[in-house]
Amino acid sequence: MSKVLVIGCGGVASVAIQKCCQNSEVFTELCIASRTKSKCDALKAKLEGKTKTIITTEQVDADNLEELVALIRRVQPDLVMNIALPYQDLTIMDACLECGVNYMDTANYEPEDLNDPEWKAAYEKRCEEEGFSAYFDYSWQWAYKEKFEKAGLTALLGSGFDPGVTQAYCAYAQKHLFDEIDTIDILDCNGGDHGYPFATNFNPEINLREVSAPGSYWENGKWVEIPAMSIKREYNFDGVGQKDMYLLHHEEIESLAKNIPNVKRIRFFMTFGQSYLTHMKCLENVGMLSTEPVEFEGNKIVPIQFLKALLPDPATLGPRTVGKTNIGCIFTGKKDGVEKTAYIYNICDHQECYKEVESQAISYTTGVPAMIGAMMLLTKQWDKPGVYTVEEFDPDPYMDALNKWGLPWQIENNPVLVD
Ligand code: NDP
Repeated sequence: MSKVLVIGCGGVASVAIQKCCQNSEVFTELCIASRTKSKCDALKAKLEGKTKTIITTEQVDADNLEELVALIRRVQPDLVMNIALPYQDLTIMDACLECGVNYMDTANYEPEDLNDPEWKAAYEKRCEEEGFSAYFDYSWQWAYKEKFEKAGLTALLGSGFDPGVTQAYCAYAQKHLFDEIDTIDILDCNGGDHGYPFATNFNPEINLREVSAPGSYWENGKWVEIPAMSIKREYNFDGVGQKDMYLLHHEEIESLAKNIPNVKRIRFFMTFGQSYLTHMKCLENVGMLSTEPVEFEGNKIVPIQFLKALLPDPATLGPRTVGKTNIGCIFTGKKDGVEKTAYIYNICDHQECYKEVESQAISYTTGVPAMIGAMMLLTKQWDKPGVYTVEEFDPDPYMDALNKWGLPWQIENNPVLVD
């Protein structure tokens, strides 16, 4: 018996909400609140009569702390699921603290305004001290650890696929497969084809900011940063085939470097087709990826937000996307003194996802683990006050739930390694 407040009603949230409604024994009541209430109402109308979960809807601006606090006090949830954007993470965490409610999200904090002086000063200090220049990092949310501990509340950060499931794979490998993990390569392959020359699979602004930034990886206790897309490898993915993939910075590297003892190297690769890269380079060269407002016919517009308005809404890609995703982690290390390697991964089919929840596999592979993370907290299978990432909890119930709720995983021993 639990009541959950979901904030956001975009591509990922709509999958997470549908999965919660399939799991109505745990999720007895859901309030869906977002900036555009009509999207919440449309989803409620689609689900009503097909689930035992009682659904209500609300309008909220999650950048506004007072509005959030008033909403949480009205709804009285056991948990707030933040599936809006990373920009709202800190405001929603503040509201949860003020109201004494547990919190979870699917991506770590990133500011909307990169010129905010307080943020910029901390960012420049971090770039210098840590050696990676991504705009997002965990420091802002880790700074809430003591406050959540003192309040006896839990904040679960990044329960999507990557971050999220990839860290559960790491915790599982650490618990069951290895005594010592030496290297982790996280491989994110999307073999899907939506038929458009250019579209992003999740929020375009967040997605394009991520892939146009310098890449970086963790090696021998420090960050190594490289120019964007400058390390390329090919890999033959089970269920998908041969693909080009590029080394990116990714948020879970930061927490895994802290939480996997003595790990020597962690890298993250994502597949991209040539058409995507050519479009992205061109858009970047003409300034369309900029987050700086520009004056246009008397109005201020942010180029990347204008671009978002032109691109297909990721939520509409579902019916036209065919093919599969394959996301997982390759480990090297030792067990009982013997060198070993293992690959844990999931294959997900875009059209199967569409049949089930009318969404493509990227939203599906993120929305399912969001529901599972929430379930871990609501059922108290994961229960400790503080601020944590997925690998800091027992992976077993989460891994079982992945098999049960639509993201089955497999282990390959002696996989082909990435050089
Ligand atoms: P969408 O843009 O599709 O949805 C975002 C939703 O948040 C929309 O409903 C939007 O409302 C709402 N929203 C935005 N700002 C506010 C605000 N100020 N107040 C209230 N609601 C707001 O994004 P996605 O569903 O693609 O992504 C959701 C999250 O999932 C992101 O944080 C993304 O980074 C993360 N993600 C994580 C992945 C992982 O594997 N861990 C993978 C993919 C995504 P409106 O409809 O009005 O715009």
